[in-house]
Amino acid sequence: MQEGRTFALWNFEMKNIVLFGPPGAGKGTQSTFLVEKFGFVHLSTGDIFRFNIKNATELGTLAKSYMDQGKLVPDAVTIDMLQAEWSKYPDAVGFLFDGFPRTQAQAEALDAILAEAGQQISAMIGLEVPDEELMARLLERGKTSGRPDDANPEVIAQRVAVYHRETAPVQGYYEAQGKYKGISGVGSISDIAAALEQTLHAL
Ligand code: ADP
Repeated sequence: MQEGRTFALWNFEMKNIVLFGPPGAGKGTQSTFLVEKFGFVHLSTGDIFRFNIKNATELGTLAKSYMDQGKLVPDAVTIDMLQAEWSKYPDAVGFLFDGFPRTQAQAEALDAILAEAGQQISAMIGLEVPDEELMARLLERGKTSGRPDDANPEVIAQRVAVYHRETAPVQGYYEAQGKYKGISGVGSISDIAAALEQTLHAL
């Protein structure tokens, strides 16, 4: 990470970004680009859960029982885990939250955690992709990802349904604060990366 460059880009200002969008929107792919470009600390709750599953921790066993069914892991567990990870990086130039918050309760908890440290969310950037495209992408990803939740069409449909029911309303939470910016998640990876970069520079 080139810290000098990162500070210059950010004009010495800490940024906390929520990267938002349905399963299969491309959050993970674009996170890799944003971390390289801007030096964010990337906190992906899905990645942290999968790390715990791989290492057979108690948290991993619990998370797996929900993830394999396409359900959300309970808020209390997810929020505690996120806060513990977040607190490991007191010197971060900025955080990229990926896959969190996914419920209104998580959004409120994140605001409270940041407020206690004198920080706040700078923006939520949503990758907008139609449902038909998501289903196709996730089925395709399931051929190579090794993720059990990508392998089964019923689980994929359940994740998209949970997204619409529990997660999509979180957009309204940030809209009410004037912080939501939506961009199209359909197109080439590099075009979407360019749109994201432009959106971040305009903050
Ligand atoms: P995707 O966005 O493709 O579904 P993720 O890696 O973000 O992939 O999430 C995979 C699964 O992990 C979710 O379906 C859910 O079970 C669990 N999960 C991830 N983040 C959260 C969260 N913030 N709250 C509850 N469950 C979560």
